[in-house]
Amino acid sequence: MKRYQLRIAGQACEPQGGAWFETQNPYTGATWAEIPRCDARDVDRAVQAAHQALTQGPWAQMTATQRGALMRKLGDLIARDAKRLAETEVRDNGKLIAEMHGQLNYVPQWFYYYGGLADKVQGATLPLDKQGYFAYTRHEPVGVVAAITPWNSPLLLLAWKLAPALAAGCTVVAKPSEFTSASTLEFAELFEEAGFPPGVFNVVTGFGAEVGSPLVEHPLVSKVSFTGSDATGRRINEQAGRLLKHASMELGGKSPNVVFDDADIEQAVYGAISGIFAATGQTCIAGSRLLVQEGIHDAFVERLLAVARTARMGDPMSPDTQVGPVTTPPQYKKVLDYIDIARAEGATAVLGGAKGEGAECGQGWFVQPTIFTGVRNDMRIAQEEVFGPVLSIIRFKDEADALRIANDVRFGLAAAVWTRDIGRAIRMSERLQAGTVWVNTYRAVSFMAPFGGYKDSGLGRENGIDAIREYLQTKSVWINS
Ligand code: NAD
Repeated sequence: MKRYQLRIAGQACEPQGGAWFETQNPYTGATWAEIPRCDARDVDRAVQAAHQALTQGPWAQMTATQRGALMRKLGDLIARDAKRLAETEVRDNGKLIAEMHGQLNYVPQWFYYYGGLADKVQGATLPLDKQGYFAYTRHEPVGVVAAITPWNSPLLLLAWKLAPALAAGCTVVAKPSEFTSASTLEFAELFEEAGFPPGVFNVVTGFGAEVGSPLVEHPLVSKVSFTGSDATGRRINEQAGRLLKHASMELGGKSPNVVFDDADIEQAVYGAISGIFAATGQTCIAGSRLLVQEGIHDAFVERLLAVARTARMGDPMSPDTQVGPVTTPPQYKKVLDYIDIARAEGATAVLGGAKGEGAECGQGWFVQPTIFTGVRNDMRIAQEEVFGPVLSIIRFKDEADALRIANDVRFGLAAAVWTRDIGRAIRMSERLQAGTVWVNTYRAVSFMAPFGGYKDSGLGRENGIDAIREYLQTKSVWINS
């Protein structure tokens, strides 16, 4: 069994408490690696290393152009090792190998894009209202960044934070999920090879209360960049607020996927399926509420079922598998509990609605792809994030009804509209309360497109040019001339 080491100040090292915890493969159920169980002492060591690199090391002296060059080199190394890193993630989180290859082959783009942006951050000279002064602005790194990530897409979601943070000149301490820490530890080994000075990127692993919380609280951490559940996000945001730290929050969703009767039905059926069943529904942008206009409702559901029934569960390492296991035992229980809740609320399971138990499921934590009809928007199954392969279908009458239902939820991460009417597409895109709206597509993301939540789905934006501002602070300089 593999025993991982921490990465602090460019060195592999052991946790101060001398403890490790086991990580399981969601398909086999077997323990495949041991991960360092850090505590506040390791957090302090990592933050001190990051602070030293920020203030005293060669990183602080580098030009932005030099930082950008290191980032592009890192991108090349990730591309070189994408296959290995993808396999590590599949072993750890059970997502499909094709999806993880896709993600890992895309991750370098974040380092190329933000590497290119590093030396394009410019201040301004100010046309002052006072005589005898010259004044200008500088954009400086916000400081040491704590990057706390969830288990569903470990390295992709880390890249969304790390690339703009490095471009801004910050240093980073990452805290991956306790369920999927291995790929982040392997990834950290690439930094020295790329030529980064020690301490620019550090990783501490372990549990929220033992590692995450002391990291947020550490006085030398200036900014917390968090992706995870809204319950944890709220707690962290309160801590950060009390300590007056910068914070950005990428949280959960309950995204509406709205199909009008003039849509290309076949396209919308496949969009609805990938929207909810990709990654076994374990994505923040899952299209978990499917709103279907009443005139096409029955025919649409019939076609959806015909396609969804063919989904093959199985070994996520196999390229033929279409639905993998749920990543963690608590998540497995949570998804099955929500299926019971939906039934008790009066929804009808027209597909699935049970554990997956055939030989193809190995020892894995499988839930059958599940579709509920007869869902009302006030049911818990329509309001709460399940984070599993469970789709709720809701009928609507017209555009106004669709908007009312779509926005009647506390989340606002993403939404989609399927229609051939361009006017309707524009009206809906304006009025849907979500940080991302797709028209006649689902799940598209890019390093160029800002991403983040309205309402309870978060604070701040990742991706796109402006994301670098999340890691900068502005200084005004006055010169008496
Ligand atoms: P989680 O909130 O349980 O954990 C996320 C991270 O926070 C983990 O690393 C965890 O160890 C850490 N943590 C837990 N308690 C902490 C504490 N008190 N202090 C500091 N850190 C703490 O989330 P999860 O179950 O790993 O991930 C699933 C959630 O993430 C879903 O709600 C999903 O919607 C959300 N998510 C959001 C996005 C987005 O971009 N908006 C992307 C992916 C996932």
